[in-house]
Amino acid sequence: MSTLRFKAVEEAFKKKALVVCAPSKYTTDYYGKYVFTQSTMAKYLSKEVMKVLKSNIENGATLSLNIADEVAKGMKMWAMELGATHYTHWFQPLTDGTAEKHDSFVDYENGPGERIIENFSGKLLAQQEPDASSFPNGGIRSTFEARGYTAWDPSSPAFVVDDTLCIPTIFIAFTGESLDYKAPLLKALNAIDKAATAVCQLFDPKVKKVISYLGWEQEYFLIDEGLYATRPDLLLTGRTLMGHESAKNQQLEDHYFGAVPTRVAAYMKDIEYEGYKYGIPLKTRHNEVAPNQFELAPIYGECNLSVDQNLLMMSIMKKVARRHGFRLLLHEKPFAGVNGSGKHNNWSLGTDTGVGLLTPGKTPEENLQFVTFLVNTLMAVYKNNALLKASIMTAQNAHRLGANEAPPAIVSAFLGTQLTNILDKLENSNSEEAIIVSDKKKLSLGIAHLPEVFLDNTDRNRTSPFAFTGNRFEFRGVGSSANCSAAMAALNTVVAAQLNEFKAEVDAKTASGCTKEKAIFDVLKSYIKISKPIRFDGNGYSEEWKIEAAKRGLDCETSVPNIIEAYTSKQSTELFKKTGVMSEIELHARNEVKWETYTKKIQIEARILGDLAINHIIPVANRYQGLLLDNVTKINQVFPTEKAKKLTADDMEMIEKIAEYISIIKTKTNAMVEARKKANAIEQEKDKACAYHDKVLPYFDDIRNAVDNLELIIDDEMWPLPKYRELLFIR
Ligand code: ADP
Ligand code: MG
Repeated sequence: MSTLRFKAVEEAFKKKALVVCAPSKYTTDYYGKYVFTQSTMAKYLSKEVMKVLKSNIENGATLSLNIADEVAKGMKMWAMELGATHYTHWFQPLTDGTAEKHDSFVDYENGPGERIIENFSGKLLAQQEPDASSFPNGGIRSTFEARGYTAWDPSSPAFVVDDTLCIPTIFIAFTGESLDYKAPLLKALNAIDKAATAVCQLFDPKVKKVISYLGWEQEYFLIDEGLYATRPDLLLTGRTLMGHESAKNQQLEDHYFGAVPTRVAAYMKDIEYEGYKYGIPLKTRHNEVAPNQFELAPIYGECNLSVDQNLLMMSIMKKVARRHGFRLLLHEKPFAGVNGSGKHNNWSLGTDTGVGLLTPGKTPEENLQFVTFLVNTLMAVYKNNALLKASIMTAQNAHRLGANEAPPAIVSAFLGTQLTNILDKLENSNSEEAIIVSDKKKLSLGIAHLPEVFLDNTDRNRTSPFAFTGNRFEFRGVGSSANCSAAMAALNTVVAAQLNEFKAEVDAKTASGCTKEKAIFDVLKSYIKISKPIRFDGNGYSEEWKIEAAKRGLDCETSVPNIIEAYTSKQSTELFKKTGVMSEIELHARNEVKWETYTKKIQIEARILGDLAINHIIPVANRYQGLLLDNVTKINQVFPTEKAKKLTADDMEMIEKIAEYISIIKTKTNAMVEARKKANAIEQEKDKACAYHDKVLPYFDDIRNAVDNLELIIDDEMWPLPKYRELLFIR
């Protein structure tokens, strides 16, 4: 082992688990303490202000400056009691993670030179102008107005981190285009509320609002800090660009079922304490399949809030990891040969009357409603499978999707045998036998009693990217480092548009004299037929499925830059426009950002790969080759020719192999540099990204293979980078 490696490994082994203490014996004592929740607000705001604020949150209306002033006053008082001296608009630009610009409360009372006070007004709460020129905007701000501003999202509560009051905000250009993830999500949530409520009213006129829910499951890797520091690839790209598989990795599945290592258990406790302080209802923690891989999941909640909580949690996890001598890896594929990390997005819809629209009903009446939402979701996913794939696709996630361990890069939906049977039956029956109108004039499904059907919920398919799991769909392709908003905005938008279409079709039929029940049934029946190609319960990882999916007309594109383009197809543009979620300008601008980001990520990786291969690996390979050559020369000096030939045969073979790998690395790295230069000269972002995908990326595997083969040959003492077996097993 090289000295550097030895030291890092030794340090990692010596580390003991940190003793972490809960802020109190009872979680409920400190749960949500740092969040300006409605119950906390009630202590700081007058009854009238509370009333207006609440109704504004529910209706999404803008707040008057008077009310905003009152809210700001109460918020400031609460935050200062928790030690806040600064405030920030916390927003979600089109980069990874969140952004914030801190301003202190300090201000002159009446003007320069006057008494200093702590000031926080409604205006400051409502709007801020961050120096936004360095955030990605896809050309929106250079062609129109140069400035952007953040605006308060009262539907997600403010919170205090250290000395700063954080106010969740959207980030938009002065011309109104959104420059972030949150603004389109809020619009999509509004669209689905409207569309789903209208459909619910076909069944129950009491429904006034539909809420979209999200429950995320965050997968992550932990790695010892010292080892992390010795790997420039991990440090700069979040993943290993080289490294031979460890002899033992996940084949025994002993990590998944094993006990959590003590250092990690302490870390998990610590992030839970932190999460609870922020009112994040963390529920589940466990080991994942790969060594050093773990998962964390809260109880599901309203989608917008749940997204914010996930982002906050990701930053807490990152911060707390350092306290424990770890680094957190949220990259989708940090290590080759073992599983990557995703973030299953459990998605469902529910009414303000407390009914889960993807939950099979307790009464037969609710079942027709359930089938309506189920079938419309399938239809939406079928029609927009390319867009949904685009919503989860990034340079990092591409390494994971389709790598025989994660959802494949083809979107299909899993229903399980029983639900499939029910849809088949519906497809083959007529409305008279399928629908019963009870005495109370309620509609119900006559052919199936769903509640019994779902008692056995073990019918699960881990290979499906969009799986029905009893009362929700699990959108599994979402990347571990992603902002869930992109996937959730796309999914809620496509379902909203579909529900609108459904409602219009049913209305048209009833207007021409058809009964409501027959209209609903006939439309559903046609949808069941049309959307059939999206249903697939088999093995999503198999080669046969790829062929079958192509036959079914599902999107099978594998190049990230091309996949992304699904956002600006005619169909998607129409869809986003009709639902009011995004304009054509916004869609194009976002794609520009995505292509640019893709290019930059591959560009950075290519540079680091080149540097590691040429400056770290080849010198060592040369040195070792020199040692072998010395050995051969000496043997030849000592022994007679025939004997020496025999004795040096193995060394000679090794020397040749090393020479061969060195030559591959040099040639391929040079060719990669050339390909990069050519790609860099391309003006158009999409073409540039394609060049990086088609012409630069393919060299990665060639170079890595040669390096990994050298790792197997070269003296372990000389190998400069910590090996997988050292990186991957926390003790
Ligand atoms: P598994 O790993 O078995 O899929 P987990 O318990 O790890 O399940 O995570 C399931 C997630 O799904 C949790 O966040 C849970 O709160 C969420 N969930 C459960 N029911 C619903 C629902 N109706 N809508 C949205 N999310 C849900
Ligand atoms: Mg889970």
